[in-house]
Amino acid sequence: MSNCVFCRIMAKEIPATVVHEDEHTLAFMDIGQVNPGHVLVAVKKHVENIFALEDAQAAAVFRSVARVARAIRGAFEPQGLSVYQANGAAAGQTVLHLHVHLVPRYEGDGMALTWPVKNPPREKLAEYAEKIKARLQ
Ligand SMILES: [Zn+2]
Repeated sequence: MSNCVFCRIMAKEIPATVVHEDEHTLAFMDIGQVNPGHVLVAVKKHVENIFALEDAQAAAVFRSVARVARAIRGAFEPQGLSVYQANGAAAGQTVLHLHVHLVPRYEGDGMALTWPVKNPPREKLAEYAEKIKARLQ
């Protein structure tokens, strides 16, 4: 997609600072750098979100995520590392080309994710699980 910024990076129409590349993925420095060492792992072939991801792409994405995460840990020795992947505007996705953020983390670094737990009864968990299991492929 020519109007997709990540497709333009894949086509080398826009420069990126690449740290890793394989058949299905490209890992490059996030231009925003929440913390030093913040990397994006994106699929090479345009896929908008996780729902359209092929199995081979999915495997490649998480293999690259794990490899780059270990390299970030070795290079920056952060106190932690957040892996963040969003699908859809409601989830915070702003670039509609599947990508995963790897963010080195430190106590008090200002990055926040609220986690408003609802703690439903176990019967509800079973009900939710059945809905998901009925649609697994
Ligand atoms: Zn794209």
